[in-house]
Amino acid sequence: MYNLLEFSTHLCPCGYFGDLYHNCTCSPAMIQKYISKISGPLLDRVDIHIEVPSLPYKELISKATGEPSVKIRDRVNNARKSQIERYSGHKNLYCNAQLTQKDLKKYCVLDSTSENLLKLAIEKFGLSARAYSRILKVSRTIADIEGAKDISSAHISEAIQYRTLDRKYWLR
Ligand SMILES: [Zn+2]
Repeated sequence: MYNLLEFSTHLCPCGYFGDLYHNCTCSPAMIQKYISKISGPLLDRVDIHIEVPSLPYKELISKATGEPSVKIRDRVNNARKSQIERYSGHKNLYCNAQLTQKDLKKYCVLDSTSENLLKLAIEKFGLSARAYSRILKVSRTIADIEGAKDISSAHISEAIQYRTLDRKYWLR
């Protein structure tokens, strides 16, 4: 829907802000002005933001691969399956992304540790109600991918990390 790559590779006029291998020549004011063009409400509508630092050429062409994608696909398929099972009693509901506010209360129940962690993040980073719902849904998905029945504080903290742009650039 939105081009995340564009957000993550151009965060300043010269294009090197956050780049490990080049120096950004922009002033903080220039960066702030540039970034503010990507509006908060727009980022609110995106589930996951992650900065992707550029890789040196050697790493890009390296043959070394991580986990084979077949294995990753299996995990994703399993996570999908458990969502379909969980929502089988609902019409037109088959994945976490579709959960409404009411559904979230039923299917994304947090223990007190996770609840406190999320509350802290919301206050500290000044996240919106929409960002709050997104974190809940994404943490439910992370739990599903792990095959976990309940959402844990580790799942919540991972989901919070995926709101990096909120954290870095919209601190209040
Ligand atoms: Zn720059």
